[in-house]
Amino acid sequence: MVTNVKNLHLSPEPVTSTAGHDACLTLLLVGGGPDDRHVVENLLADGGAGGGAVDCVSQLADAVRAAKENAYDAVLLNVDTYKGPSAKSVNTINELLDEIPILILSSHDDYQMAMDALGAGAQDFLHRSNLTGTALVRAVRYAIERKRTEQRLQALLSYDSLTQLPNRELLLDRLTQAIAVATRQQSMVALLLLDLDRFKLVNDTLGHAFGDKLLCEVAARTQTCIRESDTLARLGGDEFVAVLTNIKGAQDAAKVANKIIREMSAPIVIEGHEVFVTASIGISLFPNDGLDKNALITNADVAMYRAKEEGRNHFQFYTFGMNATTVERLTLENDLRRALERDELLLHYQPQMDCKTDEIVGFEALVRWQHPELGLVPPARFIPIAEENGLIVQIGEWVLKEACRQNKVWIDAGSKPMTVSVNLSSRQFHQESMLKTVTDTLAKSSLDAKHLALEITESSLMHDPDDAVVTLCLLHNMGVSISIDDFGTGYSSLGHLKRFPLDFLKIDRAFVNDITDNPEDAAIVRAILAMAHSLRLRVVAEGVETERQFHFLREIGCDEIQGYYLAKPLPAAEFEKQFVKLPKVKVG
Ligand code: C2E
Ligand code: MG
Ligand code: MG
Repeated sequence: MVTNVKNLHLSPEPVTSTAGHDACLTLLLVGGGPDDRHVVENLLADGGAGGGAVDCVSQLADAVRAAKENAYDAVLLNVDTYKGPSAKSVNTINELLDEIPILILSSHDDYQMAMDALGAGAQDFLHRSNLTGTALVRAVRYAIERKRTEQRLQALLSYDSLTQLPNRELLLDRLTQAIAVATRQQSMVALLLLDLDRFKLVNDTLGHAFGDKLLCEVAARTQTCIRESDTLARLGGDEFVAVLTNIKGAQDAAKVANKIIREMSAPIVIEGHEVFVTASIGISLFPNDGLDKNALITNADVAMYRAKEEGRNHFQFYTFGMNATTVERLTLENDLRRALERDELLLHYQPQMDCKTDEIVGFEALVRWQHPELGLVPPARFIPIAEENGLIVQIGEWVLKEACRQNKVWIDAGSKPMTVSVNLSSRQFHQESMLKTVTDTLAKSSLDAKHLALEITESSLMHDPDDAVVTLCLLHNMGVSISIDDFGTGYSSLGHLKRFPLDFLKIDRAFVNDITDNPEDAAIVRAILAMAHSLRLRVVAEGVETERQFHFLREIGCDEIQGYYLAKPLPAAEFEKQFVKLPKVKVG
């Protein structure tokens, strides 16, 4: 009989198994001989619960063995014959057979002994003299009921009621145990802290009931990636922790993390909505990254945040020195406030090529920060900070102004006009002043609106779809193109995008990466292409790194590509040299 609290019903329900009132009881008598057993059998019969087996053993070890083989309703511990400290035996039975209630049977009316036994987990203490059959049967039935209530309560206290996974309390308990065992055996423990990307958005847009179902599915999928002996717990919100015991090294943890990320990549269908979720995972190892549970959790958390900063949907091991990033983050935040005044921001440009004509038809403006001490800081490091503190609005205005200015300079110099794509974060997109900023910027730079595209992620749109439709229509009427960035990593399907006036769809590089080797990714991209084309959208594949990927994409009808295969994002002068075809100046 293996205790599985996970399957316990948490709602109150009457004891039904063997306890219809006429049902017989099956008991295990620990301590005592054939005579005692006979007495118990008679009592049960008197009380109307006879006919079930009463097994009798004298040793605790035999009791455990017997209980594993038979489903007993209760254990009777006969302390007259069983020679052992009763409280300790109760404790042992309780630990080993923790689904079965224990009743003490004694011929001594010993108050202290009774209290000790109850304190150790027995459900009742029965005095043998003048014990009637009715009293015994009633006591056993009450004990069964009490045991179940106790277990329900325990489950409520140790398990998360939504996913039925261990909660934080139980996790800490298991982690302490795992560390103790690993210390003894000189083995390793890995702690994986998993946080869903953009879960808040799912909750906000699709509702909490939907979010709950999603969390259950995530829990179920993650559970399939770990062994039975490992623990998966829910820390709260969209945070989960997996404790992997007895691993050989970091690579074992990496394998599991990879598996989890792969499991998440298949769409989740709930109430007809197809949702894509991704998770970021931070990993800490015992004993390398911390010797106690708190250090391990804190460090996995630090690593998880780093994984998010690096673009989500991947895992990251904790490394010594990561903690410094909290300090670094504060410093960055202060410095960022001055970056604009000090003119430390700059744009790099990455070309986009038409797959049919092999012509460069556009380029994406990607912001960089030339930090006086840290050097060139990538956007993943400072855009999230700017999003949080609101500086993104000013930064975004600067990017837009600079990108439009530069494009106009190249067009005026005689280059064939290209479209410049500018990224808008969610916060910028929903800013009231956004439309005015775009209008003003186009006017000031004299750039024709048709040479500007704005890149927005699908989650930005879904944040407030009604507001988004209005904004996009206004932009569209001005002649600005709209591009959906990182498509496939959000949570909506293409069907949701029908109502928005869109021009481009950029397939996230996560799908392009393996496109030539992974038939699933290829199938997804084909499907996106078919749907996008039926909505008259042009499709741009991001992150194209190899010739094979390019040929494959062209073959299946992709319209444009962008990626290292053509060029990394380049400083303006370098981009101009390589990709801007200016008319030759006649000399003389
Ligand atoms: P994004 O808009 O999806 O930009 C594409 C990112 O993919 C760029 O990273 C680019 O350098 C990278 N990339 C391009 N081709 C390849 C490739 O072949 N292989 C690989 N592995 N990567 C490739 P970057 O420049 O670090 O920008 C990261 C993200 O930061 C951007 O993702 C965008 O969301 C954001 N971002 C950049 N500039 C701005 C900005 O001015 N405003 C806002 N709001 N966000 C920005
Ligand atoms: Mg982009
Ligand atoms: Mg992108």
